[in-house]
Amino acid sequence: MSSMEPNTPTASAAEEIFLLKLGEVVLKGLNRRSFEDKLVSNVRRRVKHCGIFQVYVRQSTIYVEPRSADCDMAGAYATCRQIFGIAAVARAVPCEKSVDAIAETAAAYLKDAFAASRSFKVESKRADKTFSLNSIQLSQAVGSQLARRFPAVKVDVHQPDLTVHVEIREAAAYIHAPSEPGAGGLPVGMGGTAVSLLSGGIDSPVASWMMARRGVQLEMVHFVSPPYTSQQAQDKVLELARLLTPYCGRMIVHVIPFTKIQEEIRRSCPEEYFTLIMRRFMMRLALAVARRRGAGALVTGESLGQVASQTMLALGVTEDVTDLPVLRPLIGMDKVEIIRIAREIGTFDTSILPYEDCCTVFTPRHPCTRPKLQDVREAETALDVEALVAQSLEGEQWIRVKYGD
Ligand code: ATP
Ligand code: MG
Repeated sequence: MSSMEPNTPTASAAEEIFLLKLGEVVLKGLNRRSFEDKLVSNVRRRVKHCGIFQVYVRQSTIYVEPRSADCDMAGAYATCRQIFGIAAVARAVPCEKSVDAIAETAAAYLKDAFAASRSFKVESKRADKTFSLNSIQLSQAVGSQLARRFPAVKVDVHQPDLTVHVEIREAAAYIHAPSEPGAGGLPVGMGGTAVSLLSGGIDSPVASWMMARRGVQLEMVHFVSPPYTSQQAQDKVLELARLLTPYCGRMIVHVIPFTKIQEEIRRSCPEEYFTLIMRRFMMRLALAVARRRGAGALVTGESLGQVASQTMLALGVTEDVTDLPVLRPLIGMDKVEIIRIAREIGTFDTSILPYEDCCTVFTPRHPCTRPKLQDVREAETALDVEALVAQSLEGEQWIRVKYGD
């Protein structure tokens, strides 16, 4: 995360505010009102952990203003940059509502930006219509003072390197710092709910993050096979869920026992189909959770060809048991790309902790890579599928993972 530079010499931290530019809705003409409402409520919920803030929307910009002296401004700024639906984030400092004060504050606050630019322009906005100059006059007056202070930086109203934003509001004038990219995507909650199958691996946290970025609210399902899998393996998955909350928001992790199913498969089914049949059970259980929770899709971290159970035929056999869409955002991605994202979002180091997953117990020596659906269905008839699913769901545990835990 970038630092809080440039600092302002005139404003106290409690007066500095953040401006969040809305993302895709502006381009796509989605339902703008619900996009804004959702985003404002998401921002409110997230910044609450950094102090008391007032959050409201005006002209495609969300304003985040501290309302107590002890607000953690650096924390709130970092938080805002992780919220999906926000295209860009900028800070702004207040100053007195006069041309001289505005030019002086802008010169000090944007000193580094001026040093790095060859051209600039001033763009002004008046919320306070009683201010004596209109926006064009104000831009010209501030612009000519700044041109005098920075003779090496030319005025260019068409394609400037630096745009100095000035806003005249009721209580003060505000100078905006250059914006930094936000997390992009759509506000979480806009795209409905999905159940994500979260293992302890590298892939499924990334897949979850990618779907949350498209506005999907997630509930996680994790399968455990004690005593073959340990408490540490489960704790690791809860930690991954916690690491995802700054992006995905709070979530429920459904922990579902899977031991009995795996033992029955091993006892009664041909070894080459172990993994596939196991994956069909995972889908059935996730589907049951999705139905109960009103979710519209399942999410997995599968990527085409990565392992035997992720060939095209194998994926077909797996999704045969669900009538909800299975979203696989990593399907066309290479492992190196997935790892790069895992590092960026901060899940990688936890993912590589060496605890076993239920997928890695009872793995067949020669898994079938070209399975025929009929053969797998046939092999499964040795099991009482419904009873095993029902029994497994009886042991389900709910764990709430909150932002800031
Ligand atoms: P990952 O890195 O996500 O573990 P993987 O490449 O190891 O993926 P598999 O182990 O075959 O792949 O699992 C494929 C997908 O199945 C995972 O991405 C995840 O969505 C789901 N999955 C696997 N194991 C579990 C589990 N124990 N609990 C919940 N979901 C699981
Ligand atoms: Mg795995």
